[in-house]
Amino acid sequence: MNEPVIEESNGIVEQLDQEMAIIKSFLEHLEYTLGKDKYSATKYDGFNALAYAVRDHLVERWLDTQQAYYNSDDKRVYYISMEFLMGRALGNSLINLGMYEDFKEAITSLGYDFEAILAEEQDAGLGNGGLGRLAACFLDSMATMSIPAYGYGIRYEYGIFRQHIVDGAQLEIPDNWLRYRNPWELDRQEHLHTVKFYGRVITTINSQGQLVREWVDTEDVMAMAYDTPIPGYQTHSVNTLRLWSAKSSREFDLKFFNEGNYIRAVEKKMQSETISKVLYPADNVIEGKELRFKQEYFLASATVHDVLYRFKKKHNDLKLLPDKVAIQLNDTHPALAIPELIRVLIDLNSLSFDEAWEITRKVFGYTNHTILPEALEQWPVWFFEQILPRHLQIIYDINDRFIKDIQARFPDDPERVARMSIVEEHWERKIRMAHLAIVGSHSVNGVAALHSEILKNELFRDFYEMYPERFNNKTNGITQRRWLKMSNPQLSGLIDEYIGDAWTRDLFELEKLRAVAGDPEFKERWKQVKRANKEALCTYILKHSGLVVDPDSMFDVQVKRIHEYKRQLLNVLHIITLFNRIKDNPQARVVPRTFIFAGKAAPSYSIAKLIIRLITAVAEVVNRDPDVAGRIKVVFLANYGVSLAEKIFPASDLSEQISTAGTEASGTGNMKFALNGALTIGTLDGANIEIMEEVGRDNIFIFGLTAAEVAELKNRGYNPKEYYNSNLELRRVLDMISSGFFSPGAPDLFHPITDSLLNLGDHYMLLADYASYVKCQEQVSELFLNQDEWTRRAILNSAGMGKFSSDRTIEEYAREIWGIKPLDIRPGAVELQRH
Ligand SMILES: *Cc1c(COP(=O)(O)O)cnc(C)c1O
Repeated sequence: MNEPVIEESNGIVEQLDQEMAIIKSFLEHLEYTLGKDKYSATKYDGFNALAYAVRDHLVERWLDTQQAYYNSDDKRVYYISMEFLMGRALGNSLINLGMYEDFKEAITSLGYDFEAILAEEQDAGLGNGGLGRLAACFLDSMATMSIPAYGYGIRYEYGIFRQHIVDGAQLEIPDNWLRYRNPWELDRQEHLHTVKFYGRVITTINSQGQLVREWVDTEDVMAMAYDTPIPGYQTHSVNTLRLWSAKSSREFDLKFFNEGNYIRAVEKKMQSETISKVLYPADNVIEGKELRFKQEYFLASATVHDVLYRFKKKHNDLKLLPDKVAIQLNDTHPALAIPELIRVLIDLNSLSFDEAWEITRKVFGYTNHTILPEALEQWPVWFFEQILPRHLQIIYDINDRFIKDIQARFPDDPERVARMSIVEEHWERKIRMAHLAIVGSHSVNGVAALHSEILKNELFRDFYEMYPERFNNKTNGITQRRWLKMSNPQLSGLIDEYIGDAWTRDLFELEKLRAVAGDPEFKERWKQVKRANKEALCTYILKHSGLVVDPDSMFDVQVKRIHEYKRQLLNVLHIITLFNRIKDNPQARVVPRTFIFAGKAAPSYSIAKLIIRLITAVAEVVNRDPDVAGRIKVVFLANYGVSLAEKIFPASDLSEQISTAGTEASGTGNMKFALNGALTIGTLDGANIEIMEEVGRDNIFIFGLTAAEVAELKNRGYNPKEYYNSNLELRRVLDMISSGFFSPGAPDLFHPITDSLLNLGDHYMLLADYASYVKCQEQVSELFLNQDEWTRRAILNSAGMGKFSSDRTIEEYAREIWGIKPLDIRPGAVELQRH
């Protein structure tokens, strides 16, 4: 009986040693890395010292992992994305390392508030919304599954702007996130690639009598690598996110400085470094700017050179490239990598066009993220003529062959050729990047089942008829490590108590919650956790918007980018409807709700900014009205981003996923809500459909037209005025908005909104779905009165989220697109590999 006691005390000694080591490392970094002592250290110094202490733990594993990948020479995957919306790294790294509790105890014993230190970290906001956050979740899953993977992106000096709300309107503040140090990145001065722009192409004949193209008189910019470690969860693996920063080239310096005008030379130098200055802040819409075009090529070119450099360390036969390299394009933004790889293979490595073309197609996979026409990239041919003349030749060569293939398959169908051509021949000729990406890849995927069907049957129908084998679906997912374990520690702890913690690596384990969904004690605990999370959000709301909100009211939440297709406006119409019902009948029994909105609008998207203005204007009226007090409140939280999202999802009761059916490719916010036990009110759009399949039709609130019905109604001729004329409640709401009820000082303020609905065709069909939405919301209210049943369904939502782990998504990409076998990561399936 003595042995366990000895073991236990050994454990305690070990833990004390560990704690001492953490304290020592923390204090050493404070003193020697940052040059501070306990008197001069700021809270931010505390964060930095802690981050360095954690980074030390990552580096050894990182080097081991990279060495193991080099030695094994297995196929690697390169995930190229213009956006990585990472958020904070410290808490996540500690959780993935399994050191969260040890660090917390050690730092707390020094008298610090551990959580306050974590909150000092700035979000790495190198993305706009879902697309960038998906890339971040994928990095976590790939590292966790020990997949030899690299993220490649741009090290923007300014990330997504910070949003302030001033007088009810969005104000954009630059996000100069690198002003203070970034403790996670390591600059790799030696990993430099030259990226060429402008110039001209000359054709010569080499000694073997072959035509050789040379791209000359270019203006060159250097791409310098900065690496960030990406730790997997409960594994030794640490992968790499490599971000490129633009630096002026030495040649550049010499040429311009020798011209004798020093200041002008410095100006030119600065100009060349603007390429990586700023993230374009538009989500699901393109701006078509020359600087953005250069950014895309900068990322594509530097990455292709880096990939080939790494390949050539072990191999010299480029025909083996597809056996060793898979490149996944996160939308068309990095699709210039396709002509860039062909250029490098032909012009710099003397392969024939046919050889280069075959290799390229086997290497690339393309993920489509949207069918919205305003988001499909098309670059003017004259951009190419000026900036990438050699790539234009290559694209024309690709297109010539492609058009011959179309004509061979579909003779006498010139319209099909015009529809499919990579070159759009309108008055301004343009390169259709999606067509280039499809033709240049072996795989094209959508991001939810419905979306992938729409790609095959509508947007890319011609391509599907020609290359059916290329099309596939990869329903998006999210990492449960960040979106449950880290951001909702109380719910995680409760789940662990009842079903263990295997869900952190295999989210299907949550199915075991179904067995306790009816257990009164479990339900009670679940409710207490939700209530505590809501109280924490109340505190945040009070602090940041001065509003007192009731934690017992239903938290009805819509947080996501502000976009017409996401229909924040429909939500507002419902709020005004409830307001009117209360005003008409102040005694009416109304289920108390707090409507919570958050989201950024693209700075140039005026109607989206006006929607924010309307939400805040409605909030002003509603929150001040004594008849409404205690029933409904409206809150707009500024600066939606990863860190704010982490506070909101755990505190939500109702998840608003109300896009026009057929417009939201997948959504991932919907998954984060349901995972944290919110019920969804949604249309049959994107991944909502698959969420319904997993949680059961009885445990989700579905309303509105289906995608097929939307298309049919559009075809028949949709007339929003019919709905306006026949629905009194709706008409009253719209009249209030347009008559200035919510903007007495500026009665015309919201005319563009009511105009778009009534006179410009209501493109996203809010009026068609209004009645069904309001009715469905009545059912939501009814259920909320029965807290026991509500909680049971909330548990069943969490229990059904297994499919929506990004681990599942990545496993499918790896197996079906990349030809890479991940380790079987389920507990007990294998001994975790220790490299
Ligand atoms: C998940 C997430 C998104 C995507 O939300 P959707 O509702 O799917 O549009 C956008 N921004 C942030 C910060 C997120 O965490």
